[in-house]
Amino acid sequence: MLRIPIKKMDNHNIPDFSDLADEEDDFGYSLRPERLDEFIGQDRAKEQLRIHIEAAKKRGDALEHVLLVSPPGLGKTTLARIIANEIRSNFKQTIGPVMERLDLASTLTNLEKGDVLFIDEIHRMKGHVQESLYPVMEDYQLDLTIGQGPASDSVQIPLQHFTLVGATTREGLLAGPFRDRFGIRIHLDYYEAEDIQQVIRINSSKLNISIDEDAEYALACRSRGTMRIANKLLANVRDYAEVKGDGMLSLKVAEAALEFFGIDERGLNAQDYAYFQTLIEKFSGRAGLKALAVALSEDERTISEVYEPYYIKEGFLALTPGGRVASDAAYTYFDYPLGSQASLFDSM
Ligand code: ADP
Repeated sequence: MLRIPIKKMDNHNIPDFSDLADEEDDFGYSLRPERLDEFIGQDRAKEQLRIHIEAAKKRGDALEHVLLVSPPGLGKTTLARIIANEIRSNFKQTIGPVMERLDLASTLTNLEKGDVLFIDEIHRMKGHVQESLYPVMEDYQLDLTIGQGPASDSVQIPLQHFTLVGATTREGLLAGPFRDRFGIRIHLDYYEAEDIQQVIRINSSKLNISIDEDAEYALACRSRGTMRIANKLLANVRDYAEVKGDGMLSLKVAEAALEFFGIDERGLNAQDYAYFQTLIEKFSGRAGLKALAVALSEDERTISEVYEPYYIKEGFLALTPGGRVASDAAYTYFDYPLGSQASLFDSM
């Protein structure tokens, strides 16, 4: 067992998972699958997309707008690129929060028929920019205001039939009318260890890494159900094997590497231990996001969008009207006595 006692957690070696939204893979080039058949797992999502793509091809029209929803690192960007590949169209990419109306106008007017425009973090797009997308998505028409004040004029620019693919980790932050304008909504779940193992095997072979089957599985179980983490772990563990061994990734070497990097058998590292130590010791098991972020010197968004969804999925944390509450399972796992914790229902 690779259980790491909280007192022994060492902050220096850990790979940092807070940059999960990063574009680049650790290996310096992309390991992204390019076709739907190469995209492992998420069978429902793939089937859904296959049907819509096939139907759009039959009609000879652009695919309806697609909203991709999941925690970071599960494959939204990868799927967006795959959609463009499958319908054999151009792929253009931008990020929601940096978009202004003029950028949007110039991007949109340059699109060709059938193009895929991918907007990542679409929930962080400014409200007025979001609103200017309504007529675009519905009627392929851009409303532009020229000039200011009483002399201003509005013009309508017709656009090509393109497909907007939006990605979000926080669907709830999208305005209802905006969300409704996406004809296709795809939700990606955390992956099963078996799916991740398959990807570790494929990527090890692409990268000429010799790895045992049980080492693949050990890495898969510690990847928090997230493909991006699996790739990061593989990169880190490979480096360790090259420096400390002969490059061969046996289970023994993989476990030694994971211990060195401070990753326990559930894929939790010092940051996660610090989160629960703070929540339980400082706040008696219940705290608001702001207080936690200050106590941990961590960004609120990273905590709520990157770390917490996995704690919730693992049953360690509940979000209640009275704040974040550590569950009995968290008390047990992190070695705190039961009985001292805040009740889930105290504040309701
Ligand atoms: P997101 O956009 O949701 O943050 P990405 O699409 O950037 O996630 O995925 C992160 C990495 O994980 C990609 O570079 C890709 O190599 C890998 N990946 C994601 N989903 C899959 C999958 N289903 N099969 C294989 N690799 C995947």
